[in-house]
Amino acid sequence: MLIVMKPNASEEQVNQIVIFIKDKGFDAHISQGEINTIIGAVGGKTIDTRNIELFEGVQEVIKITSSYKLASRMFQPEDTVIKVKDVEIGGEEFSLMAGPCTVESLEQIEITANKLKNMGVRILRGGAFKPRTSPYAFQGLGEEGLMIMRQVADKYNMLVVSEVMEISQIPLLVKYADILQVGARNMQNFNLVRELGYINKPVMLKRGLSATIQEWLMSAEYIMAGGNRDVILCERGIRTFENATRNTLDISAIPVIKKISHLPIIADPSHGTGLRDKVAPMSRAAIAAGADGIMVEVHHSPETALCDGAQSLYPEQFEKLIKDLKIIAPVVGKKL
Ligand code: PEP
Ligand code: MN
Repeated sequence: MLIVMKPNASEEQVNQIVIFIKDKGFDAHISQGEINTIIGAVGGKTIDTRNIELFEGVQEVIKITSSYKLASRMFQPEDTVIKVKDVEIGGEEFSLMAGPCTVESLEQIEITANKLKNMGVRILRGGAFKPRTSPYAFQGLGEEGLMIMRQVADKYNMLVVSEVMEISQIPLLVKYADILQVGARNMQNFNLVRELGYINKPVMLKRGLSATIQEWLMSAEYIMAGGNRDVILCERGIRTFENATRNTLDISAIPVIKKISHLPIIADPSHGTGLRDKVAPMSRAAIAAGADGIMVEVHHSPETALCDGAQSLYPEQFEKLIKDLKIIAPVVGKKL
């Protein structure tokens, strides 16, 4: 249920409602819009909404029928803009997140970050904990990998986005990363996403391999219900019957999400297609469809990459792609 306050409602009037609904077993989440304050009442028992409509300062009470509430555009009509240090994600910004699939060495991250920074990239990606299909494949450098990411990102004034695979890794990721990534395989790890609701760093939630948009938003809701409103969605391709590409990047999910949710959405055409030559066209499609950014795997030497070399761009290819995206950005009202 959403309680929309009148434009001139006082803080006192908002507080009275919060006390009332909390007493009825609801959690109160306040969203300060440009004109109205909106109180989201989540949980609790069914109550007669007229009891709330009678309070001073209330404009209207809206029942939300969708199962995700805090993630919905009804609760917050304005786009969420996430500010991390001096970088903004969402709104008018088009974000570039790039780097190797996995951290392999200090030298590798140094070479890559140096090139990316010169292209204007502010968010460095690189996994230290890798969810690999095979237990025999490289599993990541763990804390050492995170230390490398932090050290190099600080040198180039970049942010670090890196994956958290389980609850026990949260403190390490909070220590070294700026944005915690939840991988596709963990989207419905409800224990993990619930815990991420209690941290004060943004979470980038990748869409599960076979998750519907509704299920994806429900996982975002888990994080938000814990108090962490800084959730970034990432469309990374879903499993379909098609096997010409590794996954099917669901471009249509971008405008669908934009309509029903205020959360920023990033496209990952690297995992979405699995093929280097498909990354640029799908990135162009993603920005044109309204994405708030892309996350792309870039490796200085893809032939020798320990993970996902075939879908990693050479730095020069990424540089060319950025030039193309800069041409499209103004058409869709984005700054790049
Ligand atoms: C990744 O981005 O490193 C990754 C493992 O992606 P996904 O979870 O989408 O497979
Ligand atoms: Mn990868």
